[in-house]
Amino acid sequence: MSNMKRIAVFPGSFDPVTKGHEDIINRASGLFDEIVVAIGINTTKKYMFSLEQRLAWLEKTFEKATDIKVVSYSGLTVDFCDQIGAQFMLRGLRSSIDFEYERSIAQMSKELNSGIETVLFYTSPELSAINSSIVREILKNNGDVSTFIPKNISIEK
Ligand code: ADP
Repeated sequence: MSNMKRIAVFPGSFDPVTKGHEDIINRASGLFDEIVVAIGINTTKKYMFSLEQRLAWLEKTFEKATDIKVVSYSGLTVDFCDQIGAQFMLRGLRSSIDFEYERSIAQMSKELNSGIETVLFYTSPELSAINSSIVREILKNNGDVSTFIPKNISIEK
């Protein structure tokens, strides 16, 4: 275990990626040898942006970081972690609403695969209100979302 590469998967929809996601990934990167930002493909979920577009924005956001990779996957997140040899799942906590949801996912994931630990990061206070679904709502209403998304990407109104 000690000489094994420490890999963490950060799973999510990233529809679209926000400064909140970016912050969690950057802060966690010092703890792991590699972070795999993974867009889960959920066939029953409707997304505003295509998988290709969401991947492209994430790739651009982390283009300078050699230890941060961006991929997509389908199926169970714990199975995906196993496939790529990741021992950790990374998630962010904004509020008590996130807490209850994240607790269920983490505890059920642990039940499915006891070898994978969930690591939770509290959001930075100034980013705790940022939420992809509100960003989508602003975009639908032709608002400017530039303060909520990573600096090096742009999303058209
Ligand atoms: P999901 O559909 O899996 O919730 P998201 O892309 O919405 O996917 O979120 C992925 C992860 O990022 C979740 O753990 C979520 O709590 C976290 N997250 C989202 N927004 C923020 C934020 N502003 N600050 C910190 N964490 C966040």
